[in-house]
Amino acid sequence: MRYAEVAVDVSTGHSQTFSYSIPESMELAPGHLVRVPFGPRMLQGIVFSLSPTSQVSDDQTRPVLEVTSPVPALDSLHLSLARWVSDHYVCSLFEAAAPMLPPGGRRRPRTYLTISPEVEDTKSLSVTGAQRRVIDEVERRGPTEIDSLVSRLGEWARSSVGSLVNRRVLARQIRTTKPAAQARFVESIRVRKGAKEEIFRWLFAEGRRAPRQSELITLLAESDESIGAVEARREFGGSVVSALIKKRFVEVDRAQVLRDPLEGRVFEPGERVTLTEGQRAVVSDVVRSLRDTERLPRTFLVQGVTGSGKTEIYLAAVEECLRLGRQAIVMVPEIALTPQTIERFAGRFPGKVAVLHSGLTAGQRLDQWWAIKAGEYSVVVGSRSAVFAPVSKPGLVVLDEEHEWTYKQHDAQPRYHARDVAMALGRLAGSVTLLGSASPDVGSYFRGRRKRYGLHLLPDRLRRDADGATAIASLPTVEVVDMRTELREGNADIFSRRLRASLESCLDSGKQAIMFLNRRGTASQMQCRSCGHSLSCGGCDVPLTYHRAAQRLMCHYCGRKRRVPDSCPECLAYRLSFYGIGTQSVARHVEEQFPQARVIRWDRDATRYPREYEEVLATFRNREADVLVGTQMIAKGLHLPGVTLVGVVLADIGLTIPDYRSGERTFQLLCQVAGRAGRGSDPGNVVFQTYQPDNYAIRAAAAQDYQGFYMAEMQRRHEHGNPPYSRLIRLLHSHTNNAVCESRAIELAESLRAAQRDADLTNVEVLGPTPPYPPRLRGRYRWHIVLRGRKPRELFERVDIPQGWAADVDPVALT
Ligand code: ADP
Ligand code: ZN
Repeated sequence: MRYAEVAVDVSTGHSQTFSYSIPESMELAPGHLVRVPFGPRMLQGIVFSLSPTSQVSDDQTRPVLEVTSPVPALDSLHLSLARWVSDHYVCSLFEAAAPMLPPGGRRRPRTYLTISPEVEDTKSLSVTGAQRRVIDEVERRGPTEIDSLVSRLGEWARSSVGSLVNRRVLARQIRTTKPAAQARFVESIRVRKGAKEEIFRWLFAEGRRAPRQSELITLLAESDESIGAVEARREFGGSVVSALIKKRFVEVDRAQVLRDPLEGRVFEPGERVTLTEGQRAVVSDVVRSLRDTERLPRTFLVQGVTGSGKTEIYLAAVEECLRLGRQAIVMVPEIALTPQTIERFAGRFPGKVAVLHSGLTAGQRLDQWWAIKAGEYSVVVGSRSAVFAPVSKPGLVVLDEEHEWTYKQHDAQPRYHARDVAMALGRLAGSVTLLGSASPDVGSYFRGRRKRYGLHLLPDRLRRDADGATAIASLPTVEVVDMRTELREGNADIFSRRLRASLESCLDSGKQAIMFLNRRGTASQMQCRSCGHSLSCGGCDVPLTYHRAAQRLMCHYCGRKRRVPDSCPECLAYRLSFYGIGTQSVARHVEEQFPQARVIRWDRDATRYPREYEEVLATFRNREADVLVGTQMIAKGLHLPGVTLVGVVLADIGLTIPDYRSGERTFQLLCQVAGRAGRGSDPGNVVFQTYQPDNYAIRAAAAQDYQGFYMAEMQRRHEHGNPPYSRLIRLLHSHTNNAVCESRAIELAESLRAAQRDADLTNVEVLGPTPPYPPRLRGRYRWHIVLRGRKPRELFERVDIPQGWAADVDPVALT
């Protein structure tokens, strides 16, 4: 095998690799990370396979330059998974494999300055004082980027660098960047084996002349243990330690320290419950498929309301998986990765749980990755990217809240969905996929009903009663209040009479309440009462939201802020006013109307950091606050037994978004919010305020009727031929000039339609081009084309998609 097939970090067609020759002395295996020449650059690559032949002629085949991972970073399982991802989501093999690599390790080419090899002795050069300082700095630091040099020395350094490069004292070198995170090692020193004799001789003969060295070496020799090199240097001085190393009396050990995010934390083992019959049925189904890798189905869907015991099922299934000597991956939506969730798994499997999520430091993430790779953990708990964790023998992959949109990466390649990746992993490794949700994705439920997935329903909400027995808790009652009637009957307040009365009695009885609003800010939008103009973001074409605390208008898409103008920018009238409501104004309303209530707010503005989430949550859970006001973040995964009332201030938000899935999304959100009420021993009460009380999604959510919703939704999907009755590929283009963007979109749509006619593909449609919502984002206009049909890929592959178009296979939203 003289050649390596390497996926290189450049954008290429999917599945493409390049041939490189392997130098004699190099040990190379599939999965190794390498550096290779590519055109004039040196790039990172991944060896996908070895081959006796090259794709190009011998004299055109260039060699692999360097191996950059100590061992292959990807095993054959993950190489195959990367091939699947590349093929399914139409991205390059490198892009597909990137989320499977050690985190923080992707390197980009940069220009570095080094002392030119022609210079033998920098001291003998005649240079200016400024140039001398630059040379010293580069000598001291090794290859240095010009910007970091300038930031250390000052702007004057730039011209000195220029003249030194011209004089060929400094050379420019293109190198890849340092990785964002690196493994951390600690060094320790110990007496070298077999050196004792010599040490004693030296001590006897010369020891008195070097008292510090004698003291340290005596200490080491007597204890026969190693001590930290850092501590030894601090205590005895660096020269003393170096002298002993030089004499070969001591040797240095390097050991990797693992930065473990759960280190030092003690978890309650968690009380074990006796599973109900319904729970046991799921677990035993999963176990049968775990034992027999030929057995179908390989995917199971549990539809159960919040509190129906899904997490207990995951715990039991994971336990069985570990017993069979295999590993488990448990994914939860990022937002639900609260300490509560981690505690439940870490408590059940002490010392075996690795966590992977965005809240970790780069170093922690890297260390967790290598520890998982080394097989030190058997359970990985994390968000969507955890599906790529380097487990060698996956047995079970769990997706909690499987309907969550955050399981799909939509903004960069690979635009993967963790559920589909989990199932691909299952086909490759024989693992079982377990999906759970109170309101499954209708596509998943559809496959469950068609027996492609094993489907289990858990209709009851469980709780343990006072003597530890399992009891069925009642589901909360939901009332729908028509806000149009309120208005007609003279109540213009943001709270209906019903909600106000419920809140009053909730607070009177010493219980807690949640006020939910799917929106941030105080008064959502500003509008001119004279001309009707509403203030929108200059870059995104969406209304700006007013934030009272900052007294600024803010765009919730791009984050741009602007001052509140005095007059309308359209008609110049001084008649701008606020309309709509936000979390801040809801909180203020509660405070005004219930002065005795302690109100706390939880949204992305109030809590920017994970630690603050925990604080807000702890305050509320410890009953130091009575009312929690928040956005959808409070809907997820929280178990708050003190809450008996949930008020949804406006249930309709989201229904107006022009997307075929807005009904499903609204239903799922409302179900989840409603599920926060009555999780303790007292029954829960939920109030939905809405202007569309007859909307099918709102009605089904109020009745907590998933099946009812499913039927209504599927009928709509069928009528319009939307998924799961079809598949979609969305092609998106953006440009600063709207006309250019549109004409390119028209051009591509035309060639797609021409290809469709030529090949006579009747079961695929070309929709658009149209501008998605919002039509402009961060200053760029957007146009998209959607391919819809049973096999949209057949058409997609017939057309060369020009550069600058982003393809999203199986998009979760068309916004
Ligand atoms: P979900 O994940 O569906 O929201 P959980 O697994 O968190 O549900 O269960 C909700 C509550 O019911 C938890 O407090 C859990 O300990 C309890 N529970 C779950 N299963 C049982 C059972 N079989 N017997 C008693 N209590 C249970
Ligand atoms: Zn914006």
